[in-house]
Amino acid sequence: MIFILCLVKFYGFGYKIIMERLTGLSVLVVEDDRFQRIALIQLLKRAGIKEIMPAEDGEQALELIIQHAFDVVICDLSMPKMDGLALIRRMSECQFKGSILLLSAMEDSLLRSAEKLVSMFNINMIGALSKPMEPAGLQKNLLKHFEQQPQRGHKEFNINLTSEDLDNALAQQQMIPYFQAQVSLADGKLHGFESLVRWQHPKFGVITPDSFIELAEQSGHMTELTELMFCESIEKLNTLPKRYSAVKLAINISPNGLEDNVLQSLLLNLDRKLNDNKQKITIEITEQRAIKNSAMALEVLSRFRMYGFNIAIDDFGIGYSTMEKLSEFPYSELKIDRRFIDKMENDPKVLIIVESCIELAKKLNLKSIAEGVENNKQWRLLKGLGCDYCQGYFVSKPIPSKQIPLQMQSWQKKYSSLMKVTPQRESSIEVKGQYVN
Ligand code: C2E
Ligand code: CA
Ligand code: CA
Repeated sequence: MIFILCLVKFYGFGYKIIMERLTGLSVLVVEDDRFQRIALIQLLKRAGIKEIMPAEDGEQALELIIQHAFDVVICDLSMPKMDGLALIRRMSECQFKGSILLLSAMEDSLLRSAEKLVSMFNINMIGALSKPMEPAGLQKNLLKHFEQQPQRGHKEFNINLTSEDLDNALAQQQMIPYFQAQVSLADGKLHGFESLVRWQHPKFGVITPDSFIELAEQSGHMTELTELMFCESIEKLNTLPKRYSAVKLAINISPNGLEDNVLQSLLLNLDRKLNDNKQKITIEITEQRAIKNSAMALEVLSRFRMYGFNIAIDDFGIGYSTMEKLSEFPYSELKIDRRFIDKMENDPKVLIIVESCIELAKKLNLKSIAEGVENNKQWRLLKGLGCDYCQGYFVSKPIPSKQIPLQMQSWQKKYSSLMKVTPQRESSIEVKGQYVN
């Protein structure tokens, strides 16, 4: 209790509200070792949690999960009868709606694999901790349960969106571009913006694309949506003060769009209308989905490149691209997926992957962009690794064009204070034995 009071005092009233929510959690502890199970329950009680149930193995846990809607299941990986991995699978079959916190005394790489398994089963994962568990680590991870809830709720209500809703949205200009800054890691200067679609829904507020891009693809709305994003993004950027006239604009095209003749001629004609602006546009192609017809894609991308567009391979590292495609396709930028950036601080293997992506980009003469950079440590790590550009909440969230000047001002201030950090503090960040400056 003293620990909670200290936290409340430290973080203020907002934290008090969160702590109150924490005490209302319903938690299942699945741990075969009696001593560790009791120790964990004690820790949870000390954190103020009132509703705690124990289970000795996966089978017992599953019975309880079927009867009771737990918010969080804290689960050991190695257990007799049904181990943690099998339990995760069975929980997904039961459509478990809460969050999982994994525990293991085994090596970190096993925890990482189990973490991946949880995400593949579409279960909300709040952390993977090595034993013995620290009170602060436990508390921090339990709080993540609340952070991730709204997103899940959001997805659930979007299941009801229909093709007719999309028709109306496009007709009534409810789809608008938001802009997220990309800045140079070398000097913090603005490089460009990625344009990301938002649906300003009259009833649900702002809806993010993960909830409707798939529907738009399946219902044949992508040509119209992409055209709208191109025109609106350029128009919005043109309304900004003159100092922004040289910035680049990155726009997403679904791989299927490459086979769309209408879209192709539209972009090439649009380009003519833009005159000088054509050099400033980057087309981002996600590698999350397979490019069905490689020959066609190669032809179309080469044509876009010929007409002066840059081409970025998006979400690099998590999808279908082969090394062969990377060298054959006319890419000019490589965007490292944010899932890697998110994990690189805590997982040396992921850090090696990020480092290799940057090296690969350099050798293939591509610019590297790290996505999803959220904190100072990630910024410094990437800078030390020689990554070219940074995109992420650390610099700016995606915002409407009107907010750009103010947001860029606040980034400049942040960057200046970043540069003022004393050498002693900087030297605490190490990348593969070399200190970053
Ligand atoms: P993407 O192209 O990989 O865009 C980056 C996504 O990462 C954006 O999500 C952005 O808001 C999010 N993001 C950026 N920085 C951070 C960060 O620091 N932390 C975290 N947690 N997230 C960050 P968003 O806007 O929801 O877009 C999701 C995806 O939808 C995009 O992923 C893109 O593939 C697709 N998309 C967005 N707009 C369009 C569009 O106009 N056309 C097409 N075809 N796809 C689009
Ligand atoms: Ca993108
Ligand atoms: Ca991406």
